[in-house]
Amino acid sequence: MRQKIVAGNWKMNNGKGETKNLITELQEEIKDLTLDNTRVIIAPSFINLESAVTQTEDTKIEVVAQNMHQAKNGAYTGEVSADMLKSVGIRTVIIGHSERRAIFKESDEILAEKVNAALANGLEVIFCFGEKLEERKTDNHLLEVGSQLRNSILHIAAEDWSKVILAYEPVWAIGTGETASPEQAQEMHAFIRNVIAKKYTQEIADNLSILYGGSVKPANAKEIFSKPDVDGGLIGGASLKAVDFSSIIKAI
Ligand code: PEP
Repeated sequence: MRQKIVAGNWKMNNGKGETKNLITELQEEIKDLTLDNTRVIIAPSFINLESAVTQTEDTKIEVVAQNMHQAKNGAYTGEVSADMLKSVGIRTVIIGHSERRAIFKESDEILAEKVNAALANGLEVIFCFGEKLEERKTDNHLLEVGSQLRNSILHIAAEDWSKVILAYEPVWAIGTGETASPEQAQEMHAFIRNVIAKKYTQEIADNLSILYGGSVKPANAKEIFSKPDVDGGLIGGASLKAVDFSSIIKAI
């Protein structure tokens, strides 16, 4: 079922103590909120996942992973598998973040393998994608997003869409302070929902949560979230401060 979701991607920030403190502060900020059909998610670094899962038991906060490797196990030094994530209580994984694509050279093909591996292992996937500035400037943003979806996720079985959340994150808006306008976000989200409806069914498209990510802050969250096809946000920088993140959560 389509849900509202606010997810914080903490990236490579926060050691053990900082992670614990930030969760405590966030929990304090949101404990009295009524969150009807709304999920609050945080994605700490791998090393803090287990303690974060334990700390957030019986709270409104869910803990997810920022990435995983597609292989089951073996000689992949420094990597973490779906089974390892599940063994510490993780149920959801982010795949395809633009930093994984740009810095770690994860191609559409690798991301398709990761999507397959996550779903085959029963994990829910938050799949990220988005166009670069050049593609937006040349009016190729819809084409580019269509192609990223086609190359990495439009092959999954219809029943697997209940285990997928999409996150549209224009690369030019991530960590730059520049946000897509609510109209730009709505145009893209409606386009994405239509792609899913055409390839699968209207019902699958209507039940899908599509998040916007890219410099969402307390000051702009409400306007972006007010758009009919925007079901929430994936938040980077602003999720590192409990007060800011909770005010974005309150805007949903
Ligand atoms: C992100 O990294 O997914 C993101 C949206 O970052 P920021 O909110 O800092 O732009």
